[in-house]
Amino acid sequence: MAANRHTSCICREPRKHVVIHHVDEDPSNNDWDNLAVVCHDCHSRVTGDEGLGRSFSAGEVRKYKKEWESICAGERKDDGEDEPGETEYEVTTVAPGTHKTYEYDLEEGDLFTARVESDVPIDALFCRISAYRRWVREEAELSFLDGGESVYEREISCDADREGRHVLVIVNDEDGEDAVVRVDIAIWPDDEDANES
Ligand SMILES: [Zn+2]
Repeated sequence: MAANRHTSCICREPRKHVVIHHVDEDPSNNDWDNLAVVCHDCHSRVTGDEGLGRSFSAGEVRKYKKEWESICAGERKDDGEDEPGETEYEVTTVAPGTHKTYEYDLEEGDLFTARVESDVPIDALFCRISAYRRWVREEAELSFLDGGESVYEREISCDADREGRHVLVIVNDEDGEDAVVRVDIAIWPDDEDANES
């Protein structure tokens, strides 16, 4: 993900959710050359039967991957660079009746994106720190800006409408089992700030 700026190697459109695609469609083959970062749109263009909606062969995907990774590594020039200011990727366990937080100071206009996957249903909620603190003190329900409750998989994409500390909260309810959760976060600075620098 980092070697690809969390950006699809085919369309190279920043700020879209991306997944890791196994080029040979064998999920157990995790060789570097077999893994390509693609967005959902591109993913649907690289999977399935040849001719049935599939637009790119495995060889083409590997070519896109190599080109994009060399641009990301600074080995080649590219115009219109847009990369996340901050990223975090973690696989973690959340015990029943507990929660885990990922906290970030965002500027107004920053885009927060996260992809959360869990083997049991969890709540994945993005909120302001004030809402989180009220919830921890049991003064209020957790009022969130984006996210989902009781989900296996959730994509969050939220523009900060004001600056301040924001929190991604992963909650495993009391009756659950241990949740193994994969969290992939990218923060994209406001476009205007990016252009100034
Ligand atoms: Zn794409």
